[in-house]
Amino acid sequence: MKEFSVTVLGSSAAVATDDRNLTSHLINHCNSLFLIDCGEGTQFRLRELRVRTNRIKNIFISHLHGDHFFGLIGLLSTMHLMRRTEEIKVYGPPLLEDIIRLQLKASETSLSYSLIFIETQSEGEEVIYDDGRLTVSSIPLKHRIPTTGFIFREKLQPRHINKEAVDRFGVPIIFYSSLTKGMDFIADDGEIIPNGVLTNPPDIPRTYAFISDTVYNEDIVDSIMGCDLLYHESTFSHDLQHAAHDKMHSTNVQAATIAKLAGAKRLMLGHFSARYDDLSAMLSEAKKTFNETIVAEEGVAIYI
Ligand SMILES: [Zn+2]
Ligand SMILES: [Zn+2]
Repeated sequence: MKEFSVTVLGSSAAVATDDRNLTSHLINHCNSLFLIDCGEGTQFRLRELRVRTNRIKNIFISHLHGDHFFGLIGLLSTMHLMRRTEEIKVYGPPLLEDIIRLQLKASETSLSYSLIFIETQSEGEEVIYDDGRLTVSSIPLKHRIPTTGFIFREKLQPRHINKEAVDRFGVPIIFYSSLTKGMDFIADDGEIIPNGVLTNPPDIPRTYAFISDTVYNEDIVDSIMGCDLLYHESTFSHDLQHAAHDKMHSTNVQAATIAKLAGAKRLMLGHFSARYDDLSAMLSEAKKTFNETIVAEEGVAIYI
């Protein structure tokens, strides 16, 4: 199966701690790299992990709280200083382009590459990226300012040729393309060889849902139904559910409840308040509601 992985670069809410950086996730899908959010320090985490930033072509920003995008201008500037020429697309809320362009203007920087902004909106789910193998949709979340989550969905791919079977039946290569689309093969003597004999089913498409800062909100459940890995913010443990509500954040148990309602296969908690040094209680409490839960561990790739 082709690679589809998530590496958390930062898992702290609001301020960084000794052990935790600010929000950013690196997605590898079939060797294409995507960045979601870019808290301060993200470029240093990428450097530690020896990620060549030239490979990142699409950056998704969930909202304009500083802990989710203050690292963006630094990363974009470094790419310029490294003489990047490859275009970058940045998807985010409307004001993001104004902020970044003003920072570039103030420093009289004319980028070595083209930077394209695609505005996200907070009205409903929308496909904002499609490369034929993968789509990325934005979905509105409920937070203090306009915020979206991002859902990475693999598209159903063609069927796999069964090499041994096509050789056995002497199918010419010219027919392979139609076989992968599900068509049968008719031999010279008129015999119909069913598609299922000559091909194997395609890989089951996988889904990663990134649910950024949000108050508990069951409205998102339909959009993330059945996802393979759900990342959901978990700023507080459940004893602080009132504080979570007031600040428009979620607790560990609320994240676990969303995972359960959505029938997610796995849940990853992140965006932890700096008040928590040890996350073991955070994790064990969430597991009582949804057992397949992990806490984000920075720098470790999770395979979907
Ligand atoms: Zn945040
Ligand atoms: Zn926020």
